[in-house]
Amino acid sequence: MDCLFCKVIDRKIPASIVYEDDHVLAFNDINPQAPTHVLVVPKRHIATLNDLEPGDDPTVGELVRRAAAIAKERGIWAGGFRTVFNTNSDAGQTVFHIHLHLLGGRSLKWPPG
Ligand code: AMP
Ligand code: ZN
Repeated sequence: MDCLFCKVIDRKIPASIVYEDDHVLAFNDINPQAPTHVLVVPKRHIATLNDLEPGDDPTVGELVRRAAAIAKERGIWAGGFRTVFNTNSDAGQTVFHIHLHLLGGRSLKWPPG
């Protein structure tokens, strides 16, 4: 499958990896939008949130809990951080392998653009 993040998971493309376990990989975004900008991805390919099935619930929970754990490690846990899944074109999704953006380390505006 021609998927950028599957290639990162398979180590066919280099990335700055910050966490790995059997189900989850987290790596620094190549074009960071904040001092912390980490992408947390499932190792199993899921294209968009629209493709989630009930059996994926534990995986999604792991992504969210891992993002919070990385925020804690970075010292941005208490001050606050943002987690975002972009889905399809109106949200600007460019890589079709679900990824939770963890953004923090600066004050973030709301609503997003
Ligand atoms: P999205 O627009 O939500 O699909 O987010 C895709 C993200 O992947 C963007 O923030 C990109 O900067 C990031 N990205 C693209 N290629 C790479 C890569 N090779 N390594 C790390 N991050 C990447
Ligand atoms: Zn993939």
